[in-house]
Amino acid sequence: MNFSTQQAVQQNDQQNRQIKLASRPHGKPTAANFEFATAAIPTPNDSQMLLRTLYLSLDPYMRGRMSDAKSYADPLQVGDVMTGGTVAQVVASNVDGFAEGDLVVSNSGWQDYSVSNGEGVVKLDNNMPNPSYGLGVLGMPGFTGYMGLTDIGKPKAGETLVVAAATGPVGATVGQVGKIKELNVIGIAGGKEKCEYAVNELGFDKCLDHYADDFAEQLAAACPNGIDIYYENVGGKVFDAVLPLLNAHARIPVCGLVSQYNATETPEGKDRLGLLMSMILRQRLTVKGFIIFEEYGNHFPEFLQTMGDWVATGKVKTKEHMVDGLEQAPQGFIDMLDGINFGKTVVKIADSA
Ligand code: NDP
Repeated sequence: MNFSTQQAVQQNDQQNRQIKLASRPHGKPTAANFEFATAAIPTPNDSQMLLRTLYLSLDPYMRGRMSDAKSYADPLQVGDVMTGGTVAQVVASNVDGFAEGDLVVSNSGWQDYSVSNGEGVVKLDNNMPNPSYGLGVLGMPGFTGYMGLTDIGKPKAGETLVVAAATGPVGATVGQVGKIKELNVIGIAGGKEKCEYAVNELGFDKCLDHYADDFAEQLAAACPNGIDIYYENVGGKVFDAVLPLLNAHARIPVCGLVSQYNATETPEGKDRLGLLMSMILRQRLTVKGFIIFEEYGNHFPEFLQTMGDWVATGKVKTKEHMVDGLEQAPQGFIDMLDGINFGKTVVKIADSA
């Protein structure tokens, strides 16, 4: 079955709808890079459980998996089901500790059903009001924002923090935790509506639109005391504007470079590597990359406790960009890389039983 006939196939309990990698993108992904397929619902063996996907997370890292460039994780092969974090419900279980009806966070990918032996599967509270938060503020992206800021950013009250993609799940967490740590928080986002939300709802001190022609001047004016922590989510021209403003001993948790994920060649213009190295030396910068579960996996329970309290008490707020239906996942993913999402991008696949 090809992608154009997808609409005809509704989610049901007779078959497993899947979205596979059809070809590797060159630049921005398009619908042609994805293939819609159906398969039989898998049967769990004696040590497995059957999971039905309720929510699928769409994240920037998936762009890397579609490419065969060398990275920290193996690429998908053409024909593989797209990888992805999910909230799922246990349909039948032969795994100790998991029972029919349980809600879990799993890595089931872009499909209705999967089997699992329980490895890497985390149980959610079955009475959780918003299970999809397990893919956002209470899951991998929230954890990423929290650990990168607290462990690498080493925030001290009164310092200035700058973070872009400020209304996405990582950036929104970074900024709000920054306010809890009493920082001066400057967000950067795409457009007026997102910036107003960052200030009025998330409590950032300021938020600047990176599409503004005078963005670099606006950033300099918003940071009269320089920048102590730059939480790097995007790279590109945002980083160019940040670099001259970094204070001595500034910290840069390098979390992501989403402005470059669809790039096919190095950007035009002057090579700034010399300037960067000179700034690292003169300003004695700490620049540290990290991959969340590889560096910090054992901190997840403590994060969940802290963030669970903050979310429950309204200290940390979250917004979801809900995409309706598995067949919309490719477009939702393309849009997210383009900044069309407003909040954590999640695909609603099915209701819980
Ligand atoms: P988001 O949901 O925030 O989506 C990406 C956002 O990036 C877009 O909405 C857009 O927001 C912004 N963006 C896209 N292109 C540009 C550009 N050229 N310049 C500036 N901003 C741009 O993503 P997440 O919160 O899920 O992820 C944020 C970052 O964290 C990503 O780089 C991701 O790869 C990284 N990450 C890293 C992890 C790790 O372990 N190291 C784990 C999880 C995420 P806007 O419209 O506001 O510009």
